[in-house]
Amino acid sequence: MPRYVYRFDEGGKDQKDLLGGKGANLAEMTRLGLPVPPGFTISTDACREFMRTGRVPPSVRVEVTTALRDVEDALGRRLGDPDDPLLVSVRSGAKFSMPGMMDTVLNVGLTDATLPGLAAAAGDERFAWDSYRRLIQMFGTTVLGVDAGRFTAALEAAEAAAGAGTDVDLDTAALRDLVATFRDIVRDATGRDFPRDPREQLDLAIAAVFGSWDTERARLYRRRERIGHDLGTAVNVVAMVFGNLGDDSGTGVAFTRDPATGRPGAYGDYLPDAQGEDVVAGVRNTLTLDDLRERDPASHRALETAMRRLETHYRDLCDIEFTIERGRLWLLQTRVGKRTAAAAFRIAVALVDEGLITTDEALARVSGDQLSALLFGQFDPAAARALLTRGVGASPGAAVGEIALDDDRAVARADAGADVILVRRETTPDDLAGMIAATGILTARGGKTSHAAVVARGMGTCAVVGAEQVEIDTAAGQVRVGDRVLHPGDVISLDGATGEVFDGAVAVVDSPVARYVADGLDAGLDAAGDDAAIAELVRAVHRLLTHADSRRRLRVRANADTADDAARARARGAQGVGLCRTEHQFLGERRRHLERVVLATDDAERTAALDALLPLQRADFAALLEATDGQPTTIRLLDPPLHEFLPDLTDLSVRVALAAERGRPDPHDERLLAAVRRMHETNPMLGLRGVRLGLTVPGLFALQVRAVAEAALALRRAGRDPRPEIMVPLVGSARELHLVRAEVERVLAEVCGPERLDVPVGCMIELPRAALTAARVAGEADFFSFGTNDLTQTTWGFSRDDVEGAFFATYLDNGVLTVSPFETIDADGVGALVRAGVDGGRSVKPGLSCGVCGEHGGDPESIRFFHDVGLDYVSCSPFRVPVARLEAGRAAVLAPGGDADATA
Ligand code: PEP
Ligand code: MG
Repeated sequence: MPRYVYRFDEGGKDQKDLLGGKGANLAEMTRLGLPVPPGFTISTDACREFMRTGRVPPSVRVEVTTALRDVEDALGRRLGDPDDPLLVSVRSGAKFSMPGMMDTVLNVGLTDATLPGLAAAAGDERFAWDSYRRLIQMFGTTVLGVDAGRFTAALEAAEAAAGAGTDVDLDTAALRDLVATFRDIVRDATGRDFPRDPREQLDLAIAAVFGSWDTERARLYRRRERIGHDLGTAVNVVAMVFGNLGDDSGTGVAFTRDPATGRPGAYGDYLPDAQGEDVVAGVRNTLTLDDLRERDPASHRALETAMRRLETHYRDLCDIEFTIERGRLWLLQTRVGKRTAAAAFRIAVALVDEGLITTDEALARVSGDQLSALLFGQFDPAAARALLTRGVGASPGAAVGEIALDDDRAVARADAGADVILVRRETTPDDLAGMIAATGILTARGGKTSHAAVVARGMGTCAVVGAEQVEIDTAAGQVRVGDRVLHPGDVISLDGATGEVFDGAVAVVDSPVARYVADGLDAGLDAAGDDAAIAELVRAVHRLLTHADSRRRLRVRANADTADDAARARARGAQGVGLCRTEHQFLGERRRHLERVVLATDDAERTAALDALLPLQRADFAALLEATDGQPTTIRLLDPPLHEFLPDLTDLSVRVALAAERGRPDPHDERLLAAVRRMHETNPMLGLRGVRLGLTVPGLFALQVRAVAEAALALRRAGRDPRPEIMVPLVGSARELHLVRAEVERVLAEVCGPERLDVPVGCMIELPRAALTAARVAGEADFFSFGTNDLTQTTWGFSRDDVEGAFFATYLDNGVLTVSPFETIDADGVGALVRAGVDGGRSVKPGLSCGVCGEHGGDPESIRFFHDVGLDYVSCSPFRVPVARLEAGRAAVLAPGGDADATA
């Protein structure tokens, strides 16, 4: 028969799967000899059985009897004994803490029959009635399902009738009346009397805790926190100790360090004459631990000793729930405490300095997400704000600026010194000037990988996308959000992390950590000014980031299209460029050149158009390669469908029709319109783009390769060390790459003559077919770079520009997805293709360099996956580089067998 019940002295902290977090830690504290009331845990196995069958396994009742007798013997009190009754609490406790989501019942075992005994044993009749009203209230709501509001209303009425300020002012008679009222409420709501049998109370409470695992609010919480629904909760039955025995009793929570700032030294709240949730529920104002020291120095000393013991044992910040019963301290819960990003860094480093953990362990205890939180400017938490609407937080940061509805205005206002928020229905490559000028970007359409989102993250500009309530009327020059109408020049504020949009300006505070990663330690310390805590934070980040660099195997490159981007990335520690999207070099004025290429009707015209582009591209690449001198620089040949560089079909059709109507037809526009119609595609992302473009538009790729080669050669002649790599996008078959490669080699040979220029030629792996035929593709490739944006799009068949705004909310809600696969690599599907690609490629070329340049290259969880599949580098936007460095270091120390591997 399976075993379901474990006494506290039988478990330990590593048994969270079986005993839940609370049970495992209660067991651990018991084993450490800390003052924990005796008790036992009913395992998560029992809960899973409960979920399967709809009832508590029958053997649990028997095992509970045995374990209960052990508790009774240890204390010399019995459940239901009228003279000196044992009372117990019944507490939920899953593997992961789910604050407030599940149920707890205190004072189980109190009945009309045992109440006098409790009063006599405590020498306090009021206390007994107070405990009884709490039991009926908690049991009534959580076990019997009575509306909590009915009890609260009755309590408030009693307080009012007694002229009492709070519950502590109710006297014995008032509490006795309240108990009678509560009993009536139970009878009225459930049609039955409040249970008079202590064991029945206990069994019902246990079943209720198991049942609370599956409530709607608990399911919702788990979906958001990505906790599995199948884990189940454990139930802890603990002998009651009482914080509501008067002034020398109380209950509190304490942290061994400040979880908000990481400042060393205990931190906590204490409430005299109180029980259970009173502290966090805010029923009365709490006292500090210093106040406790003054009131009860002995208990305070005992608490300090216990905290030091726990912190030494767990080697981390612990949080604790405690109760003081008539001057005696009891610990009711502990766990490694949650903390802010700043506290995480400071505490990790402080623990290294105190000799409690190694630097590898410290690195494992901070995360890339925490570092990102420290890098972006933030709204001053104390600042007032008025929420306007909410979209998808696509690029973190805090932006305040005046609305601009078009690029011209954005640029003009920014040039005039204004902070601008570019507000668009969606953005296109055409908007780049406006996006660069803007402090923040707000779009009404699109998801986290929409153009606006990707470009904004690349630039480190705060962006909120897909704010669907925002209606933009460019013609009328206004933005409508519900009833509120805004105009260009009106100020709004964006929180790029939460997706919130505020009316008016919200005060922003600078991040010294951002100054540090951009300009070095001195700049960060300078920005910290006189604030010693912030200076300590900057130093902590510096130490852990430096340590990550010394430990990581993955190199970190940047996705950078311009010399400025590359320089910015390099300052942040990038080791080269993993993706230069050359299409970004054909925007604005330069678009006309590509238009000429598209419109060319014969070779001569096309050659002339391409020739005109050569000096421009050569200058682009020269600048880029100069910024990345000595570092590998992957230049991707033109990828997007060419019609992206042509005017919009509808706009152009209208223009041509109007001109014809006025009798002034424009032959250029008419030719253009014919070309746009000819090139129109229903599914452009699956159409004529990437390598297909190179193979169908003669001379296009050759021009780009020539520009790269000439730029590199010139730099080398000037004594520099340019290291370009040519990358071919959207390859699906080895033959495609073979054909392009032949052309690339021909051009390189032509440009270089006898001077050798070693330019690796590789391809992106962003189609499932390329991953599946990687062994053949690798025969033509010097390197692979996984384009996980397109690979996710083509593996799932999700349009990356549309789905996040369209139905992801539903998919996240109903559990089809736990996170957007465009944000974190879908390890089972897309990840399996990455693995197949790496393995296939290296099966024919063992040393084949493999990297990733999709958005996932900057995502912490994905980086750990890429480490595990054996990639050589990740490439991400310049601003993510420090995050990627940190996560690559963590991946190395957390990998199986790594120094911080918990299973090692
Ligand atoms: C990709 O598809 O992952 C990629 C990096 O290319 P792009 O985002 O430019 O399509
Ligand atoms: Mg792509």
